Amino acid sequence: MYFSDIVFGPINSRRLGVSLGINLLPRQGKWCNFDCIYCECGWNKEGRDDKVLPSRAQVKEALEQRLQAMQAAGALPDAITFSGNGEPTLHPDFPGIVDDVLAMRDSYTPKTQVCVLSNATMLDKEEVVQALQKIDAPILKLDSGFEETVRQIDCPQHDYSVDKVVKAMQRFNGNFILQTMFLRGDYQGSSVDNTTPAEVDKWLSIVATLRPREVMIYTIDRATPAAGLQKVPLPELEQIAAGVRELGVQVRVSG
Ligand code: SF4
Repeated sequence: MYFSDIVFGPINSRRLGVSLGINLLPRQGKWCNFDCIYCECGWNKEGRDDKVLPSRAQVKEALEQRLQAMQAAGALPDAITFSGNGEPTLHPDFPGIVDDVLAMRDSYTPKTQVCVLSNATMLDKEEVVQALQKIDAPILKLDSGFEETVRQIDCPQHDYSVDKVVKAMQRFNGNFILQTMFLRGDYQGSSVDNTTPAEVDKWLSIVATLRPREVMIYTIDRATPAAGLQKVPLPELEQIAAGVRELGVQVRVSG
């Protein structure tokens, strides 16, 4: 499923409330430097060869029109969320677009929080870190503390190092939200499971190091591009969450 508009929704998000989405990626295909086996946009290769990104001016115009209409209808969103068909921080004008969105939020709907769902792979770029630090909720993905598991689940399309990503996340001094998808199943003849005791221990040790202001854990909710994946039952997610709470870190579970 692709988001075919620059501004989409609002959708009722399990985690963010009534959320107006912003898609900085192509409208007819996915563009991501991950290719997660659970991605609701499908595989990168399924895109219809659309490589066109919206310009900063187009994003500004689309969001302003929508916020004006929502304001007139008295139905402003709880959140404005950068998500869409891939990784938003890949857009070359991401920092400038963040500035525009924050200015429009302040002007039309100051109580709305601005969120970014990011796979945290672009944190080696100073301007991306600075932009993410300006918004209310930088939601940064880490699906496992083991590189091999990240390779299985997220299929990075480039060099990926858990250590580097964790070091980059430390620059936020805890002022971010860590997001992790828990799942299990079989993919390409191998078992995939980031809920084993070894996985959870390693992941909790990273949570203890990072001490994010919140952890969001969730599991599969929609059809996945890879067949053979299973939802993790809510009681198991709650058990993982209890480990986070023991560290004194706030956690939200979406089963
Ligand atoms: S990081 Fe997000 S957009 Fe990219 S493949 Fe994974 S789930 Fe999809």
